[in-house]
Amino acid sequence: MHNAAFTALGLDARYEARDVAPADLERVVNSLRGEAILGANVTVPYKLAVMPFVDELTPAATAMGAVNTIITKGAKLTGHNTDAAGFTRALQEAGVTLKNKRVVMLGAGGAARAVAYALLQAGSSLYIYNRSPEKAVALAKDFAAYGTINILTVELAAGELAAAVRDCDVLVNTTSVGMEHGGLDPNTSPLPQGVLPARGFVSDIIYRPAKTKLLREAEAAGLRVQNGLPMLVYQGAESFECWTRQAPDTDVMLAAARALL
Ligand code: NAP
Repeated sequence: MHNAAFTALGLDARYEARDVAPADLERVVNSLRGEAILGANVTVPYKLAVMPFVDELTPAATAMGAVNTIITKGAKLTGHNTDAAGFTRALQEAGVTLKNKRVVMLGAGGAARAVAYALLQAGSSLYIYNRSPEKAVALAKDFAAYGTINILTVELAAGELAAAVRDCDVLVNTTSVGMEHGGLDPNTSPLPQGVLPARGFVSDIIYRPAKTKLLREAEAAGLRVQNGLPMLVYQGAESFECWTRQAPDTDVMLAAARALL
């Protein structure tokens, strides 16, 4: 999608994927210095590991505790994070307002940290449910400065989780449950059978398959839904703008991403 956007803007630049071994990480990050490079994206499992190898962090990267974008300015590398901005823009595009809304977020992994930051910055009251409760507790502690986070513990009676989900305005899945990747079973949902919000909006940040089991069930129940493709495109567009100081055509990026997926 980045190459399609470079072409659309007539920019002489190229985006390449690199498979990096853990032992090579510092060397590869250092190789991003210099006039010929605009920067890089960083993905799982290196979003935390690259942090010591850049020269400075933006407030967003510091707050989320992860870097998904490196911006090169000559010899200097800045670590940034565009995941939260991408998520916020995706929900805005769907006409979802987050201020004072009750949001249940499923998951407490890397992506959940960006989504939690976006939701708290937007003024939502946040409820988190995660399979490993200690990760939800750690996330709530790390983000305490940005708002109040309520933890829906796994010890909850099934009825209590169902009630919290039923009463929310927005449900966001940030777990990898339902994703089509490797040996994962795409026909699974992060929620027990029959547990859905009574009204409102369901966002699943998974983009493969285009409709997870959760989204199919939510749609069948008459709820509005969004998959993870808009977030993917908009976090990419934010990175693109950091590197080039030009706004890419997000329709071009979306079409290119859709064609590949
Ligand atoms: P991660 O750090 O590995 O976190 C995975 C999360 O899923 C954790 O909360 C984990 O719970 C939970 N989980 C995994 N298997 C589970 C199971 N069988 N039952 C219940 N919970 C389970 O991964 P991530 O980087 O956050 O990515 C999560 C998903 O977000 C992926 O599908 C990824 O593709 C998607 N994503 C999308 C975008 C986008 O732009 N749309 C951006 C980033 C990520 P535990 O803590 O209990 O292990």
